[in-house]
Amino acid sequence: MKDNCQMIVHNAGGIWGHTGAEALAIKAGKICDVGFADALRDKWQADTELDAQGLLITPGFVDAHTHPAFATGRAEEFDWRAEGADYLEIAKRGGGILSSVAHVRDASLDHMIAICTLNFKRMLKHGTTTCEAKSGYGLSLESELKSLEAIKVGGERAGITVIPTFLGAHMIPSEHRDNPQVYVDLLCDEMLPAVKEQGIAKIADIFIEDGAFDIVQARQYCQAAVDLGFELRVHADQFNNLGGVELACEFGAQSVDHLEALSDAGLECLAMSDHTF
Ligand SMILES: [Zn+2]
Repeated sequence: MKDNCQMIVHNAGGIWGHTGAEALAIKAGKICDVGFADALRDKWQADTELDAQGLLITPGFVDAHTHPAFATGRAEEFDWRAEGADYLEIAKRGGGILSSVAHVRDASLDHMIAICTLNFKRMLKHGTTTCEAKSGYGLSLESELKSLEAIKVGGERAGITVIPTFLGAHMIPSEHRDNPQVYVDLLCDEMLPAVKEQGIAKIADIFIEDGAFDIVQARQYCQAAVDLGFELRVHADQFNNLGGVELACEFGAQSVDHLEALSDAGLECLAMSDHTF
């Protein structure tokens, strides 16, 4: 007497964690058996069968760092970079983060949702089933909330699991270039509390770098975020070492990303941290 199951998937090129197996059975939405198709058919009466056509069966990928909430692409910057332009030169030519900010501010919520949905569908198509997704191309309360809403709705429409992150501290917006502290105070006193109140993101991120936020501004931001109950992620040591890694460790950040310019002291900090980076 065979047991019933929903589906037998056969003819897989490989099954993650099961060397040599080429088929699996699914019952009540869970894998209940793994092996070879004929052996599984002897044990299970499947409602349906699926030919994996030699593809790999693997758990979904988890992408821990994405920026899906932009209004237009910046592919031309690859050409500029190939011509030798560095990050600062690209910014001078009107590219970089602030170029994305102008487009996001102009974009409707519907447009942002459409872009996020498209980006999340592309991720799913390539095997990512869970991703962390940052705002950070709005740099105003309205545009950052619009970005986070687009991330939320886009994730739902695409059918991907999304962990939203508030990255209002991605860059100083043009209108505050002459007095960045005004924007830091705005982030701490208005934007973080508003995001908290909406409950649309539980993680806050900051870009600690020359031209973005210095270590004093970052400390103020991280303290405000932690006081409001946010978890922290930090972009640090991408081009210059400003002590961002050490600050991230001090505040128990969930992750510190980039690290191309990581110092020995920063490395030691990460090694001694209780967190997994
Ligand atoms: Zn990033």
